[in-house]
Amino acid sequence: MKGLSCPYCGHTAMSVGRKMFLGRATDVPCKSCGRKVGVVASSMIMAYIPFAVAFIAALSISQIRLRIAVLVGGAAVTFLLWWLWLPLQKRD
Ligand SMILES: [Zn+2]
Repeated sequence: MKGLSCPYCGHTAMSVGRKMFLGRATDVPCKSCGRKVGVVASSMIMAYIPFAVAFIAALSISQIRLRIAVLVGGAAVTFLLWWLWLPLQKRD
């Protein structure tokens, strides 16, 4: 899977759950080859945009159910981008 592929060996570097807790300054060893990988900071910001847009949109929605649906939708898109699209980079 592209979003979890190690930039060194091309194999799966970590679980989805582990990737969710990576930050800009955090790196972890690839579970296949052991070399350090992390997320690309500029792409990380891009992945947050759907949730930020949903949050701003939700402020102007008065119906509580619709507001929750918009927030959950934005969070889901951000989660999918983080998982499938956000690339890993070399940190060694
Ligand atoms: Zn690797």
